[in-house]
Amino acid sequence: MSNCVVVGINWGDEGKGRMVDLLSSDKDVVVRYQGGGNAGHTVINEKGKFALHLLPSGIFRDGVVNILGNGVALDPENLLNEINSVRAQGVDITPDNLKISDRASLLLPWHRELDELEELRLADKKFGSTKQGIAPFYSDKYQKKTILAGELLHNPKLKEHIADLLEWKNLTITRVYGAEAITMEEIDKWLNDYCEQIKPFICDTGAFLANAQKSGKSIMFEAQLGSLRDLDYGIHPYTTSSNTLASYAPIGSGFPGAKLDEIIGVVKAYSTCVGEGPFVGEMDGDEATKLREAGGEYGAKTGRPRRVAPIDIVATKYGTRVQAATCIALTKMDVLSYMDKIPVIVKYDVNGEETDEFPFPSLLNDAKAVVTYMDGWKTDISGCRKWEELPKAAQDYVLYIEKAIECPIKYVSVGPERDSIIIR
Ligand code: GDP
Repeated sequence: MSNCVVVGINWGDEGKGRMVDLLSSDKDVVVRYQGGGNAGHTVINEKGKFALHLLPSGIFRDGVVNILGNGVALDPENLLNEINSVRAQGVDITPDNLKISDRASLLLPWHRELDELEELRLADKKFGSTKQGIAPFYSDKYQKKTILAGELLHNPKLKEHIADLLEWKNLTITRVYGAEAITMEEIDKWLNDYCEQIKPFICDTGAFLANAQKSGKSIMFEAQLGSLRDLDYGIHPYTTSSNTLASYAPIGSGFPGAKLDEIIGVVKAYSTCVGEGPFVGEMDGDEATKLREAGGEYGAKTGRPRRVAPIDIVATKYGTRVQAATCIALTKMDVLSYMDKIPVIVKYDVNGEETDEFPFPSLLNDAKAVVTYMDGWKTDISGCRKWEELPKAAQDYVLYIEKAIECPIKYVSVGPERDSIIIR
């Protein structure tokens, strides 16, 4: 029995889903504990290629129970669509292998609309929201203006509760944004079309997790996005609206007493970032296009081209520290195989002063990357399965990063498929 959490060290899209899919083989339970359907995990295994948004990445493993914890933004419409599309690819999803926390708050039909209205109002000052309603959802959750999933089962006055919220929210929609009010008929349709269908999955997952642990089961917690998008520790205000850190896993999962034996931080062999905000050392022109193409760096949810940069030691060291990672999985090493020289951001120059400490967020706009270059290996490494099979230059790259971020790199991923991995 041991618990572990898989988290992103950087801006997200590091390959967490790929690592959860791999490492859940000896786990009994996989829990998503924060975030919503606004980002995507791509998983490739013997069952096919899947783009997951809200479903935990343990969903492909027979015998693994997957849980959506109280900390997630539970969007019934998107979840149902995702369940149906993964089922259509031949994966069994039943209340036996998917459970939704009765304490998860529901992302309501107006949250996505509010996201859209606010991005329109912000115009060129926008944050690059994925418009999935995540920020309005979490704001309302903390104002206690949401519905808990368990209310679909247990609250005889559910309709009244929603009608009260709707009356309040329509004030914002009509008076602040001048848009059309949402009607109770639309809400009824949403309840019928989506909420009814997810009801069989809703239960007391806190009790389930406590029992699982008592009977010696192993639990894996799965995060969305990465350290630099954490609401409290990230690059404010270009963060997400939830805590992406490992230390939030016990709270957001429904198992507040959980002990985390292993914290696996996922780092990509280069940097990518989606949306607006500072991104030190960002590449442009041909250099960027080549890396983006080599890595297939287009958003799983939005299709947006991701911004690219060299691996950033300053940000990665900080991300590793705030996650308290016990080991690292370095992904997408194979993507760098075309490079003669591999750039590495070793320090920042902030207003003439060099530092390897990650600066206060607003100082990031003044930070310039100090870059060094390492030798490339210029050979296909995607078939390597043992450390000794990696060319020396690739080993040196891994060892350099490991030393610089002060955390052991236990896994080196050389391809998107489940078995394209080197375990050290
Ligand atoms: P997540 O949100 O952290 O799970 O990451 P994403 O799924 O958004 O992005 C990671 C992408 O990289 C996915 O398309 C994966 O299939 C792919 N991927 C993961 N590891 C590797 C690897 O080692 N090599 C290559 N070429 N692709 C990888």
